[in-house]
Amino acid sequence: MVNKEKIEQAVRLLLEGIGEDCDREGLKETPGRVARMYEEIFAGMDQSAGEHLSKTFTAENNEMIVEKDISFYSTCEHHLMPFYGKVHIAYIPDGKVVGISKLARTVEVFARRLQIQEKMTAQIADAIMEDLQPKGVIVMAQAEHMCMTMRGVKKPGSQTVTMVARGLFKENENMRNMFLNLVDR
Ligand code: ZN
Repeated sequence: MVNKEKIEQAVRLLLEGIGEDCDREGLKETPGRVARMYEEIFAGMDQSAGEHLSKTFTAENNEMIVEKDISFYSTCEHHLMPFYGKVHIAYIPDGKVVGISKLARTVEVFARRLQIQEKMTAQIADAIMEDLQPKGVIVMAQAEHMCMTMRGVKKPGSQTVTMVARGLFKENENMRNMFLNLVDR
């Protein structure tokens, strides 16, 4: 659980640090607002993907299942700035499948933390491997990082793409290409 009191104190210090007057009308409620917002955007720290991935159904067949364009919003741990975009997931069941919303929930568990995109991508893949035990999983994330577009190199619209493959997707290039074709359109 986040410590809202500490966050409020920190935001006040931050505002002082940039030379603001914390007591002016527009900022009076800001530390409290930021604390409540942080509670929401870092809620994934108290959650595990297993809660969502443990509710499985028997698979009719073991064909590839693809869920693409899952939107996510996360926060970069280097700058405390948002990065956001889409996650695409495919897996090959081994007798078990999950409801499609559970993959989106799994993405949220890992997005709602301080993150780096590479780690988030791997955590999603590893959670699915561990909790659902499919024959293979592949996760691709494409995101715009505010710390790159609003400051620093300032390349608006540039996308960072990360991909992690496990099991069959790691071993088999054709499977990876099939996935890439599916998410490309
Ligand atoms: Zn950053």
